[in-house]
Amino acid sequence: GHHVSSQRVRIRRRELRRRSNIDNFSSSFLHIFKSLVPSEDEITKQEQLLFSLKKLVNKEWPDAELHLYGSCANSFGVSNSDIDICLAIKDYEISKLDILLKLADILESSNLLNVQALTRARVPIVKMMDPVTGISCDICINNLLAVVNTKLLKDYAQIDERLRQLAFIVKHWAKSRRVNETYQGTLSSYAYVLMCIHFLQTRDPAILPCLQGMEVTHKVIVDDTECAYFDSVEKLCNFGVRNKESIAQLIWAFFHYWAYCHDYTNNVISVRTGSIISKQAKDWTRRIGNDRHLICIEDPFEVSHDLGRVVDKFSINILREEFERAANILQYDPNPTVTLFEPY
Ligand code: ATP
Ligand code: MG
Repeated sequence: GHHVSSQRVRIRRRELRRRSNIDNFSSSFLHIFKSLVPSEDEITKQEQLLFSLKKLVNKEWPDAELHLYGSCANSFGVSNSDIDICLAIKDYEISKLDILLKLADILESSNLLNVQALTRARVPIVKMMDPVTGISCDICINNLLAVVNTKLLKDYAQIDERLRQLAFIVKHWAKSRRVNETYQGTLSSYAYVLMCIHFLQTRDPAILPCLQGMEVTHKVIVDDTECAYFDSVEKLCNFGVRNKESIAQLIWAFFHYWAYCHDYTNNVISVRTGSIISKQAKDWTRRIGNDRHLICIEDPFEVSHDLGRVVDKFSINILREEFERAANILQYDPNPTVTLFEPY
């Protein structure tokens, strides 16, 4: 099980050279990727649900909009995930909390099940289940930064198909190994996708560009934060072609990086700049409140926000041991496409 490893130092000194037959596993990994992608049917059902919710909401608030965000809209969603919806209401006179409670009322009195308003959560939401489609969903109010970062992830996914393949495998690994549980001190799916984007930005040759470092074609201002980047990604569909690395090679290299190469003491990964920046430069060197900065992942728009903030001195060991386990399986295991995902 998870325990603090006394062998870490010894293991970490081991120099791993890429195993010679790693490419042989690409077709198995791609097969797993395809089995995780949601079906057309599921996507149709999500759209149906969104449509009927829009009708309900607009009866009360004619100008309100509903946006899908999170994995159902960022193209990194596996099948049968819950869906995340943001209710956007401009110039509202009543408080966010009252909107939330009103929304819960509206949903309750139509045919939706298990309606619950979680008013004390970090991001307050209404949860519910639609008996027609069987889909569960969370609705938040005016969380527009999440809508923008959802679009950024989706735009990156369109540049090179290896991003989605890698991120699905990493998310599947994280869920199987129970290191995708923010309330237990491990990382969110959003953090893992950012780690994958950053990893592909820093391959040589690069597989992904840094969209926030290019000409601005899309700009929105959300809560005083300017979100601007190049979003004409259809023009970038050949960006990664000079890099010929296979998906198995990239999975191997991703875990190798997080197990043995990342400098946890000094470095921050930054999708915004497409590079590594120092903790010093961000003043993330000391613990302030609960922000320990033990693994640093800069949010692309809320740059003072470290997505590793949930990680504590116990869960950092769990996480790093899981990276090492994964790296070693990809290096030595005869059946890495099975062993990697063995349930914890
Ligand atoms: P899953 O398939 O596990 O549900 P998900 O992509 O929906 O994955 P979550 O971690 O549930 O990921 O987050 C949902 C969305 O909320 C993210 O896509 C992101 O837009 C936003 N989000 C989540 N955590 C943060 C955070 N710490 N800071 C900013 N935005 C976040
Ligand atoms: Mg989600």
